[in-house]
Amino acid sequence: KVRVRFAPSPTGPLHLGGARTALYDYLFAKKNNGDFVLRIEDTDTARYVEGAEDYIMDALEWAGITPDESPRHGGNYGPYRQSERRAIYDKYTAEILKTDYAYMAFDTSEELDEIRKQYEEKGEVFSYNNITRNLLKNSLSLPAEEIQKLLDAKIPYVVRFKMPVNRVLNLEDTIRGKFAVNTDTLDDKVLVKNDGMPTYHLANIIDDHEMEISHVIRGEEWLPSMGLHVLLYEAMGWTAPEFAHLPLILKPEGKGKLSKRDGAKFGFPVFPMNFTDPETKEIYPGYKEHGYLPEAFVNFLALLGWSPAHDKEILSLEEMAQEFDLHKVHKAGARFSKEKADWFNHQYLQKKSDDEVLTMLQELEPEKTNVLAKDKLLKTVSLMKERATFVKDIYESGKFFFEAPQTFDEKAVKKAWNDQTADIITQFSETLNVDNFDAAKLKEAIHHFAESANLGMGKVMMPLRLALVGELKGPDVPDIMEIIGFEETKSRILNAVN
Ligand code: GLU
Repeated sequence: KVRVRFAPSPTGPLHLGGARTALYDYLFAKKNNGDFVLRIEDTDTARYVEGAEDYIMDALEWAGITPDESPRHGGNYGPYRQSERRAIYDKYTAEILKTDYAYMAFDTSEELDEIRKQYEEKGEVFSYNNITRNLLKNSLSLPAEEIQKLLDAKIPYVVRFKMPVNRVLNLEDTIRGKFAVNTDTLDDKVLVKNDGMPTYHLANIIDDHEMEISHVIRGEEWLPSMGLHVLLYEAMGWTAPEFAHLPLILKPEGKGKLSKRDGAKFGFPVFPMNFTDPETKEIYPGYKEHGYLPEAFVNFLALLGWSPAHDKEILSLEEMAQEFDLHKVHKAGARFSKEKADWFNHQYLQKKSDDEVLTMLQELEPEKTNVLAKDKLLKTVSLMKERATFVKDIYESGKFFFEAPQTFDEKAVKKAWNDQTADIITQFSETLNVDNFDAAKLKEAIHHFAESANLGMGKVMMPLRLALVGELKGPDVPDIMEIIGFEETKSRILNAVN
């Protein structure tokens, strides 16, 4: 059975790259009728950020890519937090120490810092590996009695991986294809820290094995760890899952990884939801609060690195799951584009019914929208929706539906108003009638008035628009009049002529 996991560390909010990894994990699992598992990798207590785990789960739920198994929902392979799996790791730590793939290292961090310094002075970089390990303080270099003495004295140690000497690993990545790594280029990574807690590498492969993960789909930054992970499976006598490493998401300019600073600096969202930095209190903008629809967000995100057949662009989560193909994921980084995200949101907004959009608008502006009756609100939505990227645009560019203009645009006044204008529109307003205040009739009335007063349409329509809107923008004047109603139309005209 296909089982895929998303395994974030709760060191901060889910960034766009992480969200895309989760989405591809989800799509691949669903495509293959498999399970999508969320595992929280929280063994690194120093980097733990309060609230990050909840943020990650809330963000996935908002995007609609809810895991089948997770700390929140449970499942048959729990616990789903690494901090709760210590007993499992202890068992396997003892096992790997019995093999020829791991050893105990007693070097203190001070000693290692000292050695690192010495190397630096020679202009070299120190690496704990199959050459240097023989000169350091570990169970491979020390005689048995000495090791026993250290153990008896309860001197803390770490467990390190014993990287084989000069072996060529032939690796295969679903997206990147085949490649080879010589083990001499890899170091002896710490597997278990001196407090007995496993590091990412060991905990990760133990959990993937225990949770029966069939495919590891994760960010490109983990590609260099693949050799070690494959060897860890070998050491434990387990079959390794298949690996697929996803391309980076790049800054809009195309150079470098998209960062949270980019979002904060340029005002575009880089997180699914707003994130407040617990230290600086700075808010990093999120898609949700920006007004993106979750359907638009996942659609946009999916196409950052993957092209469905026939270059289709608008796909629901279900359609994406049907079409998803890891082999069609790009190797090159995907360039982020706010314009593209907006385009998707516009498209999805048009798919919503006026009723749905109205509900969202009312949630956004409960007080301000209640000045209009439901039928008027619906009409406003239907007039404004096609120009809107976000629900909030309906209110922001259609503010005049809800309140009288406070100011009149200077340029518009110059263009629309002269000495006769006040008289003209006052006269026109006197022809208005409370009954049948609907757009079609109003249109006729404006035409009729202009004709009988021997005026061009613009001489009536433009100042009317200015009076009602405050500038020369917006949908047709009769539509605006119908929505705001007789009294309000009159009062705005009166206000403009004075
Ligand atoms: N905990 C790792 C991370 O935060 C998981 C990497 C993996 O998927 O193996 O990215």
